[in-house]
Amino acid sequence: MVCCIRGATTVKENSRAEILENTKVMLYEIIRENNLNIEEIISILFTCTKDLTKVYPAVAAREIGIVDASLMCVQELYVEGSLEKCIRVSVTVEGNLKQKECKHIYLNEATRLRPDIVSKSKIEAVAIDGPAGSGKSTVAKLISSELGYVYVDTGAMYRTVGLYCLKNNVCLDRDEDIIESLDKIDIKLEFSKGFQKILLNGIDVTEDIRKPEVACVASRVASVEAVREKLVFMQREIAKKSKVVMDGRDIGTNVLKNARTKIYLDADVDERAKRRCNELSEKEISFDYNKIREEIILRDEQDKNRKVNPLSVAKDAVVIDTSGMSIEQVKTKILEIINSK
Ligand code: C5P
Repeated sequence: MVCCIRGATTVKENSRAEILENTKVMLYEIIRENNLNIEEIISILFTCTKDLTKVYPAVAAREIGIVDASLMCVQELYVEGSLEKCIRVSVTVEGNLKQKECKHIYLNEATRLRPDIVSKSKIEAVAIDGPAGSGKSTVAKLISSELGYVYVDTGAMYRTVGLYCLKNNVCLDRDEDIIESLDKIDIKLEFSKGFQKILLNGIDVTEDIRKPEVACVASRVASVEAVREKLVFMQREIAKKSKVVMDGRDIGTNVLKNARTKIYLDADVDERAKRRCNELSEKEISFDYNKIREEIILRDEQDKNRKVNPLSVAKDAVVIDTSGMSIEQVKTKILEIINSK
């Protein structure tokens, strides 16, 4: 059976990185939402608006392993008032999928093109973002066990890269040194009953990465594009296989742009510092309140101002200021939001 899946996305700027990244996200969504095997794709026609000139989007298809399909890119007809910086695809598939069952994927500004089908292209995932100490991980664990979803703590992955760099004296002033160490870092996540265990080159580092000194190094390595590419790829692979509650800094804005529920948690800095100190004392890790507070301010600054996928509120996220709220109250509020979808 042959059928055709449509998709479209937009990019913020005419750059090679933006075009490839957004095309990959769109193709991954098409593959995941339609349960495709890459071999079932027999051809892809890409069209681009004329303001996109830095790379053929077909390169993205090759880079994610679509190597046998015939690929073609053409420039789109210019129509007044149409979307800018837009990439569209028509993916032809030969397999068991019926045309009526195809899930078409519209992302970013292109969601405006087909509001009728956009809600269908959302994935069953809860994305929780926010600054350090805003209560993300505590509440994400509770929500995941309530829903029976897998809880994924993406901060732990950046912390693990940071821990490797600390232990191996990688020079943190040089991006090249951090990038070089990536090949030597094997991260594995194991999930059971809402608990995430993280292994660095086969060794369980779940506890070690919680030390305050690792947090700042995590934030430093998280500003390096190659680090993010490696970890974001892993995060999307996990979300392809299971329904997830995923927390971090760029989940709603980048990793799972199509998550059905997006939450942004915030709280004032003193409250966040107090919460972090409580967590550390529960784990019997020594700390100095003022240092923790400074460290949080520094990390906020780094995470919000880095070039690649900075911490920001996704357009379609619900913002919750958790200052003065109990964890139970935050949990109830998030469950209400999920149930209202
Ligand atoms: O959430 P947690 O405090 O464990 O994250 C540690 C650091 O990892 C953050 O300060 C941030 O720099 C980075 N991070 C990120 N993107 C994510 C999750 C964490 O950049 N999705």
